[in-house]
Amino acid sequence: MIMTTVLIVDDSRTSRKILRGILESEGYEIVGEATNGLEGYEKYGELKPDVVTMDITMPVLDGIESLKKIKTDYPEAKVIMITAAGQKTKMVEAIRSGASEFIAKPFEPEHLKTIIDKVTK
Ligand SMILES: [Mg+2]
Repeated sequence: MIMTTVLIVDDSRTSRKILRGILESEGYEIVGEATNGLEGYEKYGELKPDVVTMDITMPVLDGIESLKKIKTDYPEAKVIMITAAGQKTKMVEAIRSGASEFIAKPFEPEHLKTIIDKVTK
C-alpha cells in the first residue's frame, strides 16, 4: 500500500504533535518534522514528501518565505498553509507565492483529510 507522505513544518511542538496524531490516524505517513522555515526547506529537498503542512509564524524563516524557497526550487511542491485568525494578509501573499491550500486552526480531522486528498490527487 502506497501512503501519502507528509512533512510537518511548525515551530510549536504541540501543533506538530496534534497534526501528526490526526494525520497518522487518517492513514498518512509522516516522513519528517521541521521546527522553522529554513529546516522545512532543507527537509523538503531531502525527503520530497507528497505534501507539506506549513505553519506561518516561525523563527529563522517564516512559513511564507519557506514556501517561496520551496516553490522556487521545486515548482511541483504541494504546500498547505496552516493559518490562525488574523492572518488574511499573509494568506493573500501565500496564494501569490504558490500555496496549494489553507487549513485553519483548530484542526478538524475530516477537513484535513479532504484538503490533503484534494491537493495530492
Ligand atoms: Mg508558529
